[in-house]
Amino acid sequence: MKNTRKRSISLSLLVLLFVVGLATFTFKLIINANDWALSPFNKHLSGVALNSSGKVIDRNEVVLLQSINGKRVYNSDLGVRKSLLHTLGDGSSHISTAIPNLYRAELYGYNFITGANCPHFLNSCKDIKLTLDSELCKLALEKLGSAKGAVAVYNYKTGEILCLVSTPCYDPNNPPIISDNLSTNAGDNYDGVYINRVMSATYTPGSIFKLITSVCAIDNFGEKLEDKVFNCQGKEKVSGGDITCLSSHGNIKFKNALTRSCNIYFANLAMELGKEKMLHTAQSLGFNKSFNINKIQTKQSSYEAAEANDYNLGWSGVGQYKDLVNPMHMLILMGAIANKGKAVIPRMIGNIISESSVDLFTGNYDKVETEELMPEKTAEILKSAMRYTVQNNYGDSMFKGLAVCAKTGTAEVGENKLPHAWMVGFSSEEKTPLAFVVISENSGFGIRAAAPIAQSVLQKAANVITKSK
Ligand SMILES: [Zn+2]
Repeated sequence: MKNTRKRSISLSLLVLLFVVGLATFTFKLIINANDWALSPFNKHLSGVALNSSGKVIDRNEVVLLQSINGKRVYNSDLGVRKSLLHTLGDGSSHISTAIPNLYRAELYGYNFITGANCPHFLNSCKDIKLTLDSELCKLALEKLGSAKGAVAVYNYKTGEILCLVSTPCYDPNNPPIISDNLSTNAGDNYDGVYINRVMSATYTPGSIFKLITSVCAIDNFGEKLEDKVFNCQGKEKVSGGDITCLSSHGNIKFKNALTRSCNIYFANLAMELGKEKMLHTAQSLGFNKSFNINKIQTKQSSYEAAEANDYNLGWSGVGQYKDLVNPMHMLILMGAIANKGKAVIPRMIGNIISESSVDLFTGNYDKVETEELMPEKTAEILKSAMRYTVQNNYGDSMFKGLAVCAKTGTAEVGENKLPHAWMVGFSSEEKTPLAFVVISENSGFGIRAAAPIAQSVLQKAANVITKSK
């Protein structure tokens, strides 16, 4: 009798466990079915085109990717295909930022009842309209030339990304043969080719970081900063080593120090402000934080000064030492300076459209703002200093009619390599609210290598948005 009772208790327990397990599984299946079914590990569903799939189109409704007879068919223009590699992927799961992979459920029309091969009459496949302009992306790729790097432009009022290009890239119709360690077969030209550098890379910022040091100084010194003078003799001894500048600027004040990009001035600012204040500003500007751009988590920018001596702290204030920034984060910061301290989060998805041409999620893609990254007054002072920099150093004729506020950077990267060339900024004209970031790796001076790219791309972007209004 005793044995029978024991057995019946064990059996009841087993049944109970089974029921609980089944319930948990069913619950998870309902919640996660989309992700499970369309995981890149399900090779038959991911990447490769299904018999039915929506199209991906650009802001002008140029078809970028569609499925014809079960095959992925890209735009016929080689430059468009290459420039959009990191946005559209190549059908494999190598490029983690590919929109068709991230929006599989919408594009391939997966649903819980019918799975991924939903009957055509249910209209389950949707088209994805991007905010990108494919011709503008193609231009940015041409201008980057053979350099590795990244270019991005967005409308800081609406959040629409118009241009997003990362190099190196390749034609998705003709992917290179790349071995498991990514570079041996294909050579250095393809080093890091699967990385979307706008979203997933960080770089030494060089002088564009002086904008971050400026925010800290404006927040702490207010209007008095304008009159703060440091003396630049081209070199200054501090504990730990020498801070050097490309020129001897003599006695120099804030606005001119930014315009002339004086290292001695900004190193002294950082040392006077101290590591706590610098760390606090970096934190509030979004360092050590990731942003979500249409399901893509950006790589975090990082600022470390906790262990720094004066020498390191000084260099950290001019964008060297251990400073690392992500291009998309820099674009968001430009948006915040242009937009009174709060940035509109950039986005690439314009609409998701059903076959019956009904905009399904228009409402979901309203603009989303960051919290306040810097006080409005700080943004205003910095904006005017960046405007002064363009007018008094780079030359306003570079960006005709756009009232551009900007800063270049030339980031030393060691190993006898040429520095990375940077330019970041925005147009302060009401009609052309565009922010941009350009980085051209190992290309020398920012003003020589990055500024011409920014100039061409921004001018064309301005035409795109004034035309579409
Ligand atoms: Zn100097």
